[in-house]
Amino acid sequence: LELALAGVQQLVPYVPGKPVDELQRELGLSEVVKLASNENPLGTGDKVLAAIQATMPELTRYPDGSGFGLKAALSAKLAVAPSSITLGNGSSEILELVMRTFVSPEHEVVFSQHAFALYPILTQAVGAQARIVPAKNYGHDLQAMLATISDKTRLVFIANPNNPTGTLLASDELESFISALPAHVLCVLDEAYYEFVAPSDRTESLAWPQRYPNLIVTRTFSKAYGLAGLRIGYGISSDDVADLLNRVRQPFNSNMLALAAAEAALTDADYLAKTLAVNNAGMTQLTSAFEDLGLDWIPSSGNFVSVDVKQNALPVYEALLLKGIIVRPVANYEMPQHLRISIGTERENQMFITALKQVLQGV
Ligand code: PMP
Repeated sequence: LELALAGVQQLVPYVPGKPVDELQRELGLSEVVKLASNENPLGTGDKVLAAIQATMPELTRYPDGSGFGLKAALSAKLAVAPSSITLGNGSSEILELVMRTFVSPEHEVVFSQHAFALYPILTQAVGAQARIVPAKNYGHDLQAMLATISDKTRLVFIANPNNPTGTLLASDELESFISALPAHVLCVLDEAYYEFVAPSDRTESLAWPQRYPNLIVTRTFSKAYGLAGLRIGYGISSDDVADLLNRVRQPFNSNMLALAAAEAALTDADYLAKTLAVNNAGMTQLTSAFEDLGLDWIPSSGNFVSVDVKQNALPVYEALLLKGIIVRPVANYEMPQHLRISIGTERENQMFITALKQVLQGV
């Protein structure tokens, strides 16, 4: 143990949502609903399934380590050059690659209070110093973040929309922030939930790396595209940054099934449209129920919403678990009275609402 790096010894592990099978077995419940990991509730789409089945019988070969097909498809869809793309085992791998490529123990990493839990973990793992900036209305305080940057700062993380608060920064304020960053600071703009943002509110972020060579935009197939289990995400950056990230990554970091599935997912416009429709309807369903219950929630641009249960949220979380509903307590995000609920299908949302009412009424 003493051999581990100091940062690693102090790591508090990322806690994933409780697995459905485990809870079902533990409690002997016939049905368990998981609204805890911001996953897509629709199940795998037909086009993705067909692509996986077509790839399946032959798994003896290594995948295409350059991800040629997926990069070409992303390039066509997003109007970015293939040379600006880095593929990863989930977008979390891109975040990690940026850390390993650019950040060492003498550096500081700036991010917001209530921002995604992986940022402090990745920072500690490389032994760098986290500079956590107090949030403004649960969202990023960009002015305060700029003011926190020092000579030692190497990287700033911005999650837009942010998880677990769902807060969104406007495209123009974000671009002014990025343009104001000094040359020795890189910025990761984490857009894992980009597709859920209303079209009129979306950033112009993919055009920015050409103007701001220190910017890396990350996106994922885990959420709106429904491929969380396959682990595939990507970064868009200047060609120079992409070249470095691609040198550092493992040669076969994106597996064959994930590459095929992601390419198919990009062609399935119906699945994406249905996902967004179900998400919008589910958001209204949940927030109307919160309103009926007299609970405040943080308006969210993602596929989840954090609600203030006006008491320590952990016992509420535990009581919901006993009823077979898995949500996410966010006490480790310094939000001890909030629960984060991922938007499910109408039926799943209703089961959660019924259970929440019972728990709050002590039934
Ligand atoms: N960024 C944010 C803000 C997230 O919430 C998540 C997933 N929880 C990720 C990145 C990583 O997702 P993945 O590795 O599945 O792409």
